[in-house]
Amino acid sequence: MHTVILMLPGGRRVCHHFFVHDEAAPVKTPARAAMTAFGPVRMGGSRGYIACMGKEAAVTPQVERDRVIPRSHTNEARAVTCPGCMQSAEWKETMARIRERAGTPPEPAPDGDQTKG
Ligand SMILES: [Zn+2]
Repeated sequence: MHTVILMLPGGRRVCHHFFVHDEAAPVKTPARAAMTAFGPVRMGGSRGYIACMGKEAAVTPQVERDRVIPRSHTNEARAVTCPGCMQSAEWKETMARIRERAGTPPEPAPDGDQTKG
């Protein structure tokens, strides 16, 4: 068994999907507690889905033919690198709201690999 890290075209960035919070979604992230200087902090246990995969897809790592495929995801839209998620309406709306609040003009979604050059 080995873990497969999904790299984007160009091979220098790991694929991070966009996690969309949705109380009506059938899947939930695993809950865990992390110890911090301020005491234990509960994390996870959020309902939602990965924008490029649809609401039914698991958000946890998947095992396929003896390989562990992580489904790295974040709800921080600016940290997303998955080209599929960056084409989703959910990601585009979130980024538009972030840019609006920051007062920066909208930018077209990249077509994927920005590591060239
Ligand atoms: Zn994705």
